[in-house]
Amino acid sequence: MTVQHQLMLIDGKDVDSDRRMTIIDPSDESVVATVAQGDASHIDAAVTAARAAFDSGAWSGTTPQQRAAVMRQIAAAANEVIEDLVELEMACNGATVRQATGFHIGYALAHFTYFADLAETYAWRRPAPIATFPALSQSVVHREPIGVVGAIAPWNFPLLLTLWKVGPALAAGNSVVVKPDEHTPLSILEFARIAERNGLPPGVLNVVPGDGREAGARLASHPDVGKIAFTGSTEVGREIMRLASGTVKQVTLELGGKGPSIVLDDADLDLAVDGVLYGCFVYSGQVCESGTRALVPRQIHDRFVERLVQRAKSIVVGPTRDWDTDMGPVIDAKQRRRILDYLSEAQADGATVVLGGESVPGDDFAKGFWVEPTIVTGVRNNMRIAREEVFGPVLVVIPYDGDDEAIAIANDTDYGLAASVWTSDNARGLAVAERIQSGSVWINDAHQINCQVPFGGYKQSGIGRELGPDALDSYTEVKTVHLDLSGGRAAKPYDILLSHADEKGESQP
Ligand code: NAD
Repeated sequence: MTVQHQLMLIDGKDVDSDRRMTIIDPSDESVVATVAQGDASHIDAAVTAARAAFDSGAWSGTTPQQRAAVMRQIAAAANEVIEDLVELEMACNGATVRQATGFHIGYALAHFTYFADLAETYAWRRPAPIATFPALSQSVVHREPIGVVGAIAPWNFPLLLTLWKVGPALAAGNSVVVKPDEHTPLSILEFARIAERNGLPPGVLNVVPGDGREAGARLASHPDVGKIAFTGSTEVGREIMRLASGTVKQVTLELGGKGPSIVLDDADLDLAVDGVLYGCFVYSGQVCESGTRALVPRQIHDRFVERLVQRAKSIVVGPTRDWDTDMGPVIDAKQRRRILDYLSEAQADGATVVLGGESVPGDDFAKGFWVEPTIVTGVRNNMRIAREEVFGPVLVVIPYDGDDEAIAIANDTDYGLAASVWTSDNARGLAVAERIQSGSVWINDAHQINCQVPFGGYKQSGIGRELGPDALDSYTEVKTVHLDLSGGRAAKPYDILLSHADEKGESQP
């Protein structure tokens, strides 16, 4: 599939711009496409279109069943061109074909369908019990769309993480403006066009690629945007909160992580070795919920590291479109440099690189942004490499003595997105999970993203949750409607204000 110049989608129209962004394939540095670069004025136009679409009722005025039907139709149409979407995703972010097919696009369309289904089962009107106090009355709690939702997404799972926002936003009847990451606007642009061809009215879903500090910042601060949903780094998340505060927008933030993989002393070591490697190295460690700190009992540390290293040597690094490839490149040259700098600093601080640690050698990797699967030992939890998100294929191993110390190290982090526990005793695993400060804890598993349960972070990993049955809550306003059932005959607290009205005769006709 050849992609050339891609335009923005605003109000159902293709819109060009004076400025262009160039999209580079991280696996070989080839130019994939150029894309019209939106600025604050394009965000303004998109928000105006989204607001007009919302006010028209063309989408916001439909029933949940009608919205569910259109959303299912969109997902089905996207499934028809799933290979194109996979290619667009791989070409921009260097995911391997296995990863992009299953995890990126496969999940994205399944999760979008989940939100369609949720529209039909969600409690849009929830009657409260009939009250006798403060008056005989019936209240009904309404859930209503907010209006215009802004969605800002990162490059690592561009379609999936955008649809985690667009799915519930549309299910609730909102209009949406998406600001994709600079590296990865293609799959969501394609999806939005598919959506319009399959029943979504113009202006309901707008996509404005552009620079984060310009287009993204305008979206996060725009007065007509009622909610901003963001996935990305904690640093930018803080800025989003600040920008959104000017008009007191609703905010959900899905931010970074520094996940612990806690190997207990009774773990099945074959399972734990594979699980810890999967938890860290899938997608070159560029997953927010990656398990990047392996916490290993001191008495099995050396044996465990030896097995980790042996097994990690079997990870096939290679062309992203080859179905035998296990691991691809990292996103860009800047990120590769950053990863290698973390490794240099850790070694200067006394850590030892026992596997990898360099750019991948060889002519096949001369182009593209490649980093070897890397394992580092001799790491203390106070080192920068153990505290900050490296966002590359780097696993640090930290020894511990006893479950209490493992839990203390696991929780000694600014983050709290996901953790894994490896044990042959379910009760012990559950007891450890209770004590972990983290939005997800997987026992004998990793990267389990199930759209039917909430996902999100404790501490500086975010605010709010995406996915799960309550995901629609944060795309709605809550309105309580009170209906008096006393016919004016019941005692009412009007005498707080009108206690002398009868005396003055003011209530007499
Ligand atoms: P990033 O924060 O640099 O960028 C994310 C998005 O924010 C991009 O679209 C970018 O253009 C935009 N942006 C940048 N500056 C902005 C500003 N001032 N105002 C408004 N928007 C701005 O993150 P990234 O490098 O693209 O992604 C990697 C990060 O995302 C990692 O920290 C990772 O952990 C996190 N992440 C979190 C989750 C999660 O669910 N918690 C999922 C995936 C990735």
